[in-house]
Amino acid sequence: MTDIQQVVPVPRETAGRFRAYGPRHLDMLARRARLGDADTLAIRAVATVLPFRTNSYVVDELIDWDAAPDDPIYRLVFPQPDMLPRQDVDLMAGLLSEGAPQPRIRAAAHEIRMRLNPHPAGQLVLNAPILDGSSLLGLQHKYPETVLFFPKQGQTCHAYCAYCFRWAQFVDEPDLKMATDHIDTLVAYLRRHREVTSVLITGGDPMIMSAAVLRRYIEPLLDPSLDHLESIRIGTKSLGYWPQRYVTDPDADDTLRLFGEVTLAGRTLAVMAHYSHPRELDPPAAADAIRRIRDTGAVIRTQAPLIRSINDEPATWMSLWRSQVRAGMVPYYMFVERDTGPQDYFAVPLARAHEIFRDAYAGVSGLCRSVRGPSMSATPGKVCVDGVADIAGIRVFVLRMLQARDPALVGRPFFARFDPCAKWLTDLVPAFADRFPFDPAVPAVPCIPAASYESAPSDLSGLWNPGELAPAS
Ligand SMILES: *Cc1c(COP(=O)(O)O)cnc(C)c1O
Ligand code: SF4
Repeated sequence: MTDIQQVVPVPRETAGRFRAYGPRHLDMLARRARLGDADTLAIRAVATVLPFRTNSYVVDELIDWDAAPDDPIYRLVFPQPDMLPRQDVDLMAGLLSEGAPQPRIRAAAHEIRMRLNPHPAGQLVLNAPILDGSSLLGLQHKYPETVLFFPKQGQTCHAYCAYCFRWAQFVDEPDLKMATDHIDTLVAYLRRHREVTSVLITGGDPMIMSAAVLRRYIEPLLDPSLDHLESIRIGTKSLGYWPQRYVTDPDADDTLRLFGEVTLAGRTLAVMAHYSHPRELDPPAAADAIRRIRDTGAVIRTQAPLIRSINDEPATWMSLWRSQVRAGMVPYYMFVERDTGPQDYFAVPLARAHEIFRDAYAGVSGLCRSVRGPSMSATPGKVCVDGVADIAGIRVFVLRMLQARDPALVGRPFFARFDPCAKWLTDLVPAFADRFPFDPAVPAVPCIPAASYESAPSDLSGLWNPGELAPAS
């Protein structure tokens, strides 16, 4: 910062102005990261397939440009030249440099996306609840006590994480979106489902919505007829990407008033804050936002996936959890990167993920140990890797379900053969049993017409759990 900036403070009303950067700013930003022409073209090619968006705060206050392109916050939001398979990047780069027409670029990008498992864990089909015979778009009811709600206006974010598992919602693919603006439908559904104690409003980022729109969604949930609701959660990365949302934005105060009303109505408002790296807690605006939210009576719980090259060191997680507890937040989940989009690029093997978790966990106080993980949000539920053990001479992963479609399975340990390369539940094979607890008791016999038996795959074990197999269900 120069002397003049210290003497003349930036006026409040321009200091906090949100400015988004998208694909058309990539050339300019790549120059700032000192990328060469080939890498710049490659990241532009990746950005035709995967979403890219960042903003003035991330660019000016979070990224350490001297360390770019290796800087973890730079890597958090910017596409990388090798994030997609080489031939896909080359194809898109070729189309860009020959100035191919937009429809051709779009068609090629679409074709690549369809190979990236856009809706992992059978999100669309398996979890959409039914009311009066019709399937409710924009709701997910996977675990008895929690309903996920995707408000239509909340399906974007202040910036996009390069590793986002909801990436399919941000690209120009209408069929991949799931969202609703029918709060009445949610209320009607909740009236009939007294087992639901928690509504999780998610996105995208619901905090992209104005206070007025947010109020239209939250106020009806406070109705006394829904007294079985104990908590309303908001999943958000705004505390990391745009803390001004709670400090200097024109509707910051209205937003906090709304949070306070939830507390007054006898419910907990839980802000489920996604922090990928401790640096996101450093700027003064970030600290102000946390303090102001806590002043409303809301609780902030924190979560993030473990991502190769961004936060794959125990020291990073130790620092993250400690700064969070210092600021009065509650560490909640460390996730394993999901099996979608550029997973190959960002995934950390489960064995290494557990080591990172354990080494970090061992070095923090009990207040930080409210965190659980590494956890995979997979089709049958959330599976936590509790450790690696040698049992009767066999090396195994010790696993446990933190959440399950079938509540009877929650909290029961089970085992998988140790595999140093396994990155996801579907890479694992049961140990001491012929199936995992969530697999059907009798393997379903796949229905294959006699004529096609010869061409059927010889290993049918994967078909025991059809939900996991369907790539874009
Ligand atoms: C994680 C998750 C929830 C919330 O689970 P909690 O254990 O209550 O935090 C709800 N629905 C889905 C689909 C989830 O992945
Ligand atoms: S903030 Fe969440 S939804 Fe938005 S891009 Fe990041 S991971 Fe995806």
